[in-house]
Amino acid sequence: MRMRFIADMMLGRLARWLRLYGYDTLYGVEDDDEIIRVASQEGRVILTRDSGLAGRAGRLGVEVFLLKSNSLEGQVEELKELGVRFGRLLPSKARCPKCNGPIRIAPKEAVRGKVPECVYERYEEFYVCERCGQIYWPGRQWTEMLKVDKKLRRES
Ligand SMILES: [Zn+2]
Repeated sequence: MRMRFIADMMLGRLARWLRLYGYDTLYGVEDDDEIIRVASQEGRVILTRDSGLAGRAGRLGVEVFLLKSNSLEGQVEELKELGVRFGRLLPSKARCPKCNGPIRIAPKEAVRGKVPECVYERYEEFYVCERCGQIYWPGRQWTEMLKVDKKLRRES
């Protein structure tokens, strides 16, 4: 089964990227006990830079990845060493970076009036988050993300 995660409050950027890579990743739980409880209940791996939290989770038998790096790139490298795979970024496989919901292809007709007119005219490919309704298309932001993706996946 694919790994699922819960990231602590220090790892928001990493959480958004894991979602983009298709990993079911919870983020936004502030309380350490709650993080441990949710991880244990849902079989999620805790991601943290806090050795205190990592120690407590470990003693309770909850799987935890203690990360050392400050940077997104460094954190991704550490996860790779821990066996997390980062395949090519594909919108059809991504989860919503905002809410972790599943994303599916939306027929062009379905987004009429929900995206700016110029975007509607220009793009043929649209995706929608099934949970929060956010609409995505392969625009400028996606191009920027592909640049980061390339950097993150470069073999070191
Ligand atoms: Zn969403």
